[in-house]
Amino acid sequence: MISIIIPVFNEEEVLFHLMERLRPVVQGLGRPYEIIFVDDGSRDKSLDILKGFSSQPGVKVVELTRNYGQHAAVFAGFSVSSGDMIVTMDADLQNPPEEIPKLIRTMEEGGFDVVGTIRRERKDSLFRTLPSKVINMVARRITKVKMSDWGCMLRAYRRSVIDRMINCHEQATFIPALATYFAKNVTEIEVEHEERFAGESHYPLRKLINLQFDLVSSFSDFPLKFIMYAGVLMALLGVGFGGVLGVARAVYGAKWAAEGVFTLFAVLFAFVGFQFLALGIMGEYVGRIYREVRRRPEFVIEKIYAAGQAPGIGFQASGKE
Ligand code: UDP
Ligand code: MG
Repeated sequence: MISIIIPVFNEEEVLFHLMERLRPVVQGLGRPYEIIFVDDGSRDKSLDILKGFSSQPGVKVVELTRNYGQHAAVFAGFSVSSGDMIVTMDADLQNPPEEIPKLIRTMEEGGFDVVGTIRRERKDSLFRTLPSKVINMVARRITKVKMSDWGCMLRAYRRSVIDRMINCHEQATFIPALATYFAKNVTEIEVEHEERFAGESHYPLRKLINLQFDLVSSFSDFPLKFIMYAGVLMALLGVGFGGVLGVARAVYGAKWAAEGVFTLFAVLFAFVGFQFLALGIMGEYVGRIYREVRRRPEFVIEKIYAAGQAPGIGFQASGKE
């Protein structure tokens, strides 16, 4: 079975067209499917339209209490989905539904757990694409996975990956990154990208910065460590500066050092440095607490292979594959 998950936030103008294009595609897959719309607290008629869809076969509509954001909405969709393969996509028709069969085919033929996508000729404004470039670069460095386009939500996941994601109760998550973290075989294919059918992007710069921070903070504590590094550097500079002053003063006399004012600066630098260092150490602890609180599993077992019962040992090996 295949689940299609679509987060919807104020997309009243698009929904009918979306359904019109999506329906033949999923029917063409020739297997059971469910389309899950998650209404992320829309303030327009989106929810009413969706409720209308829900009487059609294979359509589920999830209503959230308020606007939680795209990733949380997709997560809500995951939690009620029952497909073996799950496809996420945007409601605004920037991700053409016609690409879904390609995703599924790639996943099945290659035995992949996650199939990501690269938007061929992305049709967005510079305002929207530039921050994405930064996000992509940071995401690649942090997760160490060479995925080229993290932002495109037209993606396919296997059930196992989805279950692992549902099992980690995190507040702020970036689904493509988390999925890659939990998957063994990841690939990406090129897909078409279209202009937004109607309405405007829901991602102003403020939200993008937020998203970036979600991504960085949930995969590394570099920002916390950064303070420590800066502190060490500053303290060292302060001490070095003090040394230079000491020598210069011995050579040129008290007049040169402005009667000790410079020395004061050197001492101050060293202290400010130490303060940052202390802050950084605190940050290090906070980071560890944060990791504890996230309760992300320490490891994930992909599968268990065992050749039935081990002879002579009172131990029942699970007979899975
Ligand atoms: N979306 C959502 N909640 C939000 C913002 C967006 O569910 O708070 C949905 C939106 O309806 C769309 C998808 O997420 O289906 C992507 O949003 P958008 O097209 O605005 O983002 P962009 O294409 O600019 O990345
Ligand atoms: Mg869009």
